[in-house]
Amino acid sequence: MSIVSHLISNKKSVLLSSGNLTGIFMETLDAKIQKAAKVLLNSKSNTAFTGAGISVESGIPPFRGEEGLWNKYDPIFLDINYFLQYPEKSWSLIKEIFYDFFGKAKYNAAHFILAKMEENKLLDAVITQNIDNLHQEAGSKIVHEFHGNSKQLICTGCKTKFGIDEIDINKLPPECSLCKSLLKPDFIFFGEAIPQDAHTASIDLANTSEAFLVIGSTGEIMPACQIPVFAKTNGATIIEVNTKKSNFTDSITDIFLQGKATEVMAELGEELFKNGMLE
Ligand code: ZN
Repeated sequence: MSIVSHLISNKKSVLLSSGNLTGIFMETLDAKIQKAAKVLLNSKSNTAFTGAGISVESGIPPFRGEEGLWNKYDPIFLDINYFLQYPEKSWSLIKEIFYDFFGKAKYNAAHFILAKMEENKLLDAVITQNIDNLHQEAGSKIVHEFHGNSKQLICTGCKTKFGIDEIDINKLPPECSLCKSLLKPDFIFFGEAIPQDAHTASIDLANTSEAFLVIGSTGEIMPACQIPVFAKTNGATIIEVNTKKSNFTDSITDIFLQGKATEVMAELGEELFKNGMLE
């Protein structure tokens, strides 16, 4: 081996080992956000998958966990059989929680960046586990609601849907103006199936997306939590934004951006829209 090639191969091995070394040390959040932005910019198809964590900063508590609703309320009032048997009782809690309280929530920076990404062809769709309508209010057009939406009511008799603004929920339980049957919020209760169209669309996106941006989901709720796993199995790069490690982090996540959804997404948005598309 000549001196030169020896030096080159030595240099290579130094470079390689220093590469390995940086792998050992924690990458900074900034570096990871840049990496995530690169993935999203270079990918042909991106999907966002969001859970309760994205709406917490809008003032909507999650169902689970220490600050969760199920620590304060008995979830039985959202059981479909209980609801049908005791509609008035169920409805008084539903009104208090989902309409008087959540109804006032406004979308935040994380919802906004996702809407801007879609507008700028950097996002094909949002799949959300949330029922709060905040993605749509932020401007997202294609939103697959895995668990339905609280801003619509559905008739338990004729299945007609009504906007919440069309119905007077001061008189409980509200009834259908067409057939007088009981109205139910159009999100799924315990004991009900996932809406078929949202489920099919989510599976399709998991099959085709090159990158999946998971935000604020702990990966505990079946079957929604399978969607990012399907995406990973089909070769998608998984970028995760969460304040704490989730079920996804050590199993399927490629780039973990740890922090509050609004802060991480604002920074990611800056990286994505460096060339001034963000207004
Ligand atoms: Zn009806």
